Amino acid sequence: MTHQEIIEVQELLSTRKSIVIVTHKNPDGDAMGSSLGLYNYLIRKKHRVKVITPNGYPTFLQWLPGDDKVIEFSEHPEKAEKIIKKADVIFCLDFNALRRIEEVGVCVKKAKATKILIDHHLQPEKFADYMLSDKRACSTSQLVFDFIELLGDKKLINKKSANCLYAGIMTDTLNFRIGTTSAHTHHVTAQLIEAGAQNTLAYTNIFDTNSENRVRLLGYALQKMTLLKEFNAAFISLSATELKKFGFQKGDTEGLVNYPLSVEGIRFSALFLQMKEEIKISFRSKGNYDVNKFARKHFSGGGHLNAAGGEAHKTLDEVVTDFVNLLPEYKDQLLK
Ligand code: 5GP
Ligand code: MN
Repeated sequence: MTHQEIIEVQELLSTRKSIVIVTHKNPDGDAMGSSLGLYNYLIRKKHRVKVITPNGYPTFLQWLPGDDKVIEFSEHPEKAEKIIKKADVIFCLDFNALRRIEEVGVCVKKAKATKILIDHHLQPEKFADYMLSDKRACSTSQLVFDFIELLGDKKLINKKSANCLYAGIMTDTLNFRIGTTSAHTHHVTAQLIEAGAQNTLAYTNIFDTNSENRVRLLGYALQKMTLLKEFNAAFISLSATELKKFGFQKGDTEGLVNYPLSVEGIRFSALFLQMKEEIKISFRSKGNYDVNKFARKHFSGGGHLNAAGGEAHKTLDEVVTDFVNLLPEYKDQLLK
């Protein structure tokens, strides 16, 4: 954001406003952490604030301060639509295109509010009035911290905000492991801890609250993993019946796609899940192999260089076969 834009946003937020924060479908730790981190800051500035998610999210995120105030669009479409319509300001967090939030996006597009996008995905669409978009940032939560700092309000980050933003950064960096984790990331998290973020609590609440079913599903999925060593690639596929057998709950497969990358030499991993209406696909890579490009080109998706997703409307077997058949085309890049 330019200096002039910062002044305009400061001015905009200097009087009490009705603000809506929206984030992407199937919200993850960064989506909820950034949204609720911003929420807890904005209510301290005395705004009227609502957080709207397209649909539900895992229980391991439901301890974040402000969670009880979140409105799920899929549960309350009319109420959510009304709130979006009446908003003065809409923050769009952790997504780069309105179609990523489906019906919520339709409402946001129609709304007269001033729109502010804060995001770290590649190729953002220009639908917002103000944009803080940085593909090098490890997480949207880190950008929310930067945004609050740019507005000169760092002192308003309280324990609640800090816990949310910390959880978002922690989850999107896979516990400070991935390449976008920078010195700045550690500076920000240090300041969040100083502001009251409980780092070990965040870890315990998110990673040590698994159901027995989830851990057993992990074991089952790892047994099923297929390695395609000639391409340095691997995949896991789970049918609706298999998911049901383990009492699948939203979030149970979160992180599963990363495991094949821990096998020496594997640089490209895919996870195929048979959901009610579509095959939900996750891609992860290590190094320069661009899964964003791959997901965009072949599976109507997108994301980041090393983490992307997509979907397909075919049978599970057909999608897996399509994936395997695409690999020879990428062999050179995968073996580099
Ligand atoms: P995940 O595999 O965790 O669902 O998604 C990984 C990353 O890819 C996330 O940053 C997510 O926003 C993005 N992503 C997932 N699915 C899609 C999709 O269908 N379209 C686009 N454009 N991005 C996606
Ligand atoms: Mn994110």
